[in-house]
Amino acid sequence: MNAVIPPGAERILKTLTGAGYEAYLVGGCVRDLLRGVPPQDWDICTSALPEETGAAFKGRRIVETGLKHGTVTILDGEDAYEVTTYRSDGPYSDGRRPDQVRFVSELREDLSRRDFTMNAIAMDLNGTLYDPFGGEKDIRARRIRCVGEPVRRFREDGLRVMRGLRFGATLGYGLEEETARAIHTCRAMLDHVAAERIHTELCKLMTGEAAGRILREFPDVLWQFWPELEPLYTMEQRNPWHCWNGWEHTLHAVEAAPAELVLRLTMLLHDIGKPRCKSTDENGSDHFYGHPNVGAEMADHMLRKLKFENRIRQRVVTLIRYHDMDLPDEPRTVRRWLGRLGEEPFFQLLEVKRSDALAQNRDKAWEHLERWEAVRSLARTLTADGQCLCLKDLAVNGKDALAAGIPPGPEVGKALTALLERVLDGALPNQREALLNALREIQT
Ligand code: ATP
Ligand code: MG
Repeated sequence: MNAVIPPGAERILKTLTGAGYEAYLVGGCVRDLLRGVPPQDWDICTSALPEETGAAFKGRRIVETGLKHGTVTILDGEDAYEVTTYRSDGPYSDGRRPDQVRFVSELREDLSRRDFTMNAIAMDLNGTLYDPFGGEKDIRARRIRCVGEPVRRFREDGLRVMRGLRFGATLGYGLEEETARAIHTCRAMLDHVAAERIHTELCKLMTGEAAGRILREFPDVLWQFWPELEPLYTMEQRNPWHCWNGWEHTLHAVEAAPAELVLRLTMLLHDIGKPRCKSTDENGSDHFYGHPNVGAEMADHMLRKLKFENRIRQRVVTLIRYHDMDLPDEPRTVRRWLGRLGEEPFFQLLEVKRSDALAQNRDKAWEHLERWEAVRSLARTLTADGQCLCLKDLAVNGKDALAAGIPPGPEVGKALTALLERVLDGALPNQREALLNALREIQT
């Protein structure tokens, strides 16, 4: 076990124990070592008070940003190690942050304030575990279990509700029964958690390998901050395209999408507008006219509320807006949409359409799946050719338009757009001479 502790962490543990203090690896890094995956960051807990830690590492590069919480960061080469004095959280009066942090003398007390048993294991320099809550056994059983009484722990800090789901999705672990029940019971605690913190956990959840399973098991948790999802849960869609109701279809679409944040979020929200747009015709068939635009507006609002960065929000909204559009596999249309959306969004849109089709009635969807595949290879050829797809690809520019006698101002843009249309239609080659001639014609 010792072999897996990197030399940097070993040096820090040795320095602290050499100075007469207790020191252990703790939290996520121990969990990951036991799972056999490389830890992302290294946390160390110690009986040394922050100033004692500082003194033990005199002359080393240290950062004291977390001093109030007992944390000293020690830099060793490229790596940063967070060394935190054993602490116990004081009472939580707001379900958000402990009112005070108290330094304690016991490792056990430090471990008992941690969220889940798998995150509450300490490992010493020799690789010996201190595991008072049975975390190792839970890791082996691939199970997430609260340290202590679940309802109490979620009431202390509502973020743990989301952390539980996030770990379930990223590690592919199940939630132990009582912990799962408490998550449902305590989901309203999320009302007291900052949107930014929910956002961080949701991003990890959505890109986790088991995101679909977690969403299937805990839809009510998401309704807490995104109530717009709730109507999908019971929405039937009786028409030849669908074999699942709104929510099951959504989950299958999420599961079919590659584990990238934009694509997974798009699939989660792609049909969010459907409940508001539903109508049933005289044959009993359901329609959802206009749902992509309605959904795009709703998604925009939902993503803003959770403080998603503009880049992600705008992309998801665009993909939702166009997720249902028809796209024939002919060069003219594909060129146009490649130019309009840009290369990356266009290929993302194809992924979205593919994931959507994979979550539909297979008897009907295969036809679409074949088409999106044909469009994809056509688009690959067009982009590899370096074909003209948008204004900046055009073999003439604004200066040329002015030189050809087009008056400065909006006319220049209009003229170039008119040329682009003709090039996209295949009516004009994207060649300088031909385009200059055409410009002169426009002018006269
Ligand atoms: P990751 O691999 O994502 O970093 P992690 O378990 O290291 O996962 P961190 O947020 O880095 O998670 O937290 C480090 C440790 O601090 C956790 O392993 C856990 O023991 C404890 N912890 C973090 N957040 C909470 C919380 N909200 N409530 C209780 N304990 C927590
Ligand atoms: Mg961590």
